[in-house]
Amino acid sequence: MGTVRAEERIRKIRERIIQASQRSGGGAVTLIAVTKTFPASAVKEALSAGITDIGESRIQEAQSKFLELGDAAQGITKHLIGHLQTNKAKKAVELFDLIQSVDSLYLAEEIDKQANKLGKTQECLLEVKVSGEDAKFGCAPQDAEAFLEQSRNLSHVRFRGVMTIAPYFDTPEQARPYFRAAREIFERLKANNCFSGEPVLSMGMSNDFEVAVEEGATMVRVGTAIFGER
Ligand SMILES: *Cc1c(COP(=O)(O)O)cnc(C)c1O
Repeated sequence: MGTVRAEERIRKIRERIIQASQRSGGGAVTLIAVTKTFPASAVKEALSAGITDIGESRIQEAQSKFLELGDAAQGITKHLIGHLQTNKAKKAVELFDLIQSVDSLYLAEEIDKQANKLGKTQECLLEVKVSGEDAKFGCAPQDAEAFLEQSRNLSHVRFRGVMTIAPYFDTPEQARPYFRAAREIFERLKANNCFSGEPVLSMGMSNDFEVAVEEGATMVRVGTAIFGER
C-alpha cells in the first residue's frame, strides 16, 4: 500500500472523527494508528500523513520496529494496547509512553517498580472489561474504583483514564451500549479524582470508532481502516 493511499485513508478517517465529535458536541480526539503486524515502513507512511501516535500490541515486535525506525521513532507517542505480562513490564516501561492495558494491581505494582528503577513516571490507562465474561482481559467495572484507590500510592505510575474494547459486531451501532457503559465508568472515576492530567477515554477501532466518538471517546485506535487487513 503506497504512501498516498494511507495518507488519503487517514485524511478521511480524520474527517469522520471530526463529524462524529460534532454530533456529540465533544472535543478533540486523538487518532492512534495501530501499526501491529505492519512493518516500520507503514509507521513512516503514517508519520508523513501527520500521525503523532502509534499503537502496538506486542513488546518484541514493537522493540524491533522502534529500533529499525531509529531517529524517526523519536517524536512519536507510543501506546501499548495489547495485554502485558508482568515479566515484560520492564521492556514496556522502556518502550512506551502510555500503557493502555493495565488491568491488575499486581501489574501496576510491577510497572511502578520498573519505572522507579528507570527514573520514569509511567502513564497508564486502566483497561475495563465492559463486554462481560467473554473478554479475557480487563478489570471488572465494579472493581475499577477500588483498583485506582489502591494504585494511588504507586509514586511512579500515573493513571490517565480508561481503555476499553467493545465486542465486535457487523453493525457498529450494536457496540453503542458498551461504549456508553465505559463512558459512565470513566465519568464516575473522573468525578472522584481518580485520574491525573487531561483525562483519556480510549475506545473505538476501525469498525466502530464513529460510535465510540459519539459516546465520548477522546482517543481512538485504528489499524485496518488505515493500513488494510492484517
Ligand atoms: C488491533 C487493535 C486495535 C485496532 O484494530 P482495527 O480493527 O485494526 O482498527 C485497536 N485496539 C486494540 C486493543 C487492538 O488490539
